[in-house]
Amino acid sequence: MENKIISIIGLGLIGGSIALGIKRAHPDYQVIGYDTSEKSRTIAMERGIVDDLVTDLKDLAPISDIIIIAAPIKPTIDILKQLDDLDLKDQVIITDTGSTKSEIVAVGESVFANRSIRFVGGHPMAGSHKSGPLAADVTLFENAYYILTPSVLTSEGTIEEIQDLLTGLNARFIRIDADEHDRVTSQISHFPHILAASLMEQAGDYALEHEMTNQFAAGGFRDMTRISESDPSMWTSVLLSNKTAILERITDFQDRLDAVAKLIVQSDDQAIWDYFYHARDTRQQMTIHKRGGVESSFDIFVDIPDKEDVILDILELLRGISLVNIHINEKNREDINGILQISFKNRKDLERAKQAISEHTDYNVYIN
Ligand code: NAD
Repeated sequence: MENKIISIIGLGLIGGSIALGIKRAHPDYQVIGYDTSEKSRTIAMERGIVDDLVTDLKDLAPISDIIIIAAPIKPTIDILKQLDDLDLKDQVIITDTGSTKSEIVAVGESVFANRSIRFVGGHPMAGSHKSGPLAADVTLFENAYYILTPSVLTSEGTIEEIQDLLTGLNARFIRIDADEHDRVTSQISHFPHILAASLMEQAGDYALEHEMTNQFAAGGFRDMTRISESDPSMWTSVLLSNKTAILERITDFQDRLDAVAKLIVQSDDQAIWDYFYHARDTRQQMTIHKRGGVESSFDIFVDIPDKEDVILDILELLRGISLVNIHINEKNREDINGILQISFKNRKDLERAKQAISEHTDYNVYIN
C-alpha cells in the first residue's frame, strides 16, 4: 500500500490514541505530530506515539496526506484558519475530533471554500477522565462509535479513506449531519453535564447549612453527579460551541420542572405516579449502558482489547472473589472509563479485584 504522511495536531488523550491506532494498522505510514505543549511533544515522542515532530504548522501542512486535529474546540477552529494560510497538498483530507460539530464544520466549509482540499468533521465517542499523551491508549475506541459529519468538502471516497486510516481503532463508524449530532449530544451528553454540575452545586451549598447532607448522599446521588467530575475546560468549550441546542434543552427542562412542581402543589398523586412510571418505562426501553441490571455501588471498569479470551483471563484472575455482575459497555462510552464493567458486593472484593488485574495485566482499571 502507498505510504502516507499523517499529521496529528494535538497529541493528548484523543490525538495520541488515534496515532497509536494508525500505527497499529498502518506501520508503513509516517505519523508526524504537532502540539503547542513541549511536555506533550516530549511524551508523544518517548512513547512512540509519533515518528517525528514539528514545532511549526507550516512544516507539516505541505507534506501531509491526512491531517487530524485533536486539539480542544477553540484551538481547533484557530488551526483550521491557520491551515488555510499555508500550502497544502492537493486533495489533502482534514478532519478533527471536537466534541461539538456544527461550528467546526461551518468554519471548515468557509475557510477552505476555495481550496482543493477535503474536509470532514469527526467525533470519536469514547474518553477518559485522564488527559494528555500519557493517557493515550490504543484500545480507547474499541467498539465505540466514531461519528463522522460530512461537509460540502467531503467528496466521494473521503469517508472510506478515513475509515481505512483509522481501522486499527476498531471503532464503529457512523456518519450523521453535524447539526443533528449537536442536537442529539446536547440532550444525552451536554445537558446532563449541566444538570450534574448544578445538582452538585446545590448539594454543596445545602451542606453548608445541613451538615448531614454529605453523610446521607448515597448511590442514587452519586450516580446522578458522577460526571460533574469531568474536565471543566472541555465542558466550558462544549457549552459555548453548542449554545442554541443546549439553551433549548435547558428551557425545555425548566418547563418540565415547573410541571412537576405544579403536580406537587396540586397533590395530584395519580399524575405524579404516571410521571415516574413513564420515566421508568422509557429508561427500561432505552438501550443505554445499564449497571448490568443491578444497583451495585462497587464497580470497576477495565479497558480491555477486543481479543479472544481476554474476559476469561480476567475472570481467572478474579477466582475466589464474589462477582455480582459483569457487563460489556459497548458503542457509547464517552462518559465512562473502561469497556468491561464488573460489579462486586463490597469494597473489599472490589479492591482485591483491582489489585489482581493491575498486578497481572497492563490494562487500565478505574473505579468511578
Ligand atoms: P487533551 O487535553 O488530552 O489533549 C489536547 C492536546 O492539544 C494537548 O496536548 C494540548 O497541548 C494540545 N493543544 C492545545 N492547543 C493546541 C494548539 N493550538 N495546537 C496544537 N496543539 C494544541 O484533550 P483530549 O481529551 O485529547 O481532547 C481533544 C479533543 O477531542 C477536544 O476537542 C475534545 O473536545 C475532543 N474529545 C474529547 C473526549 C474526551 O472524553 N476527552 C472525547 C471525544 C472527543
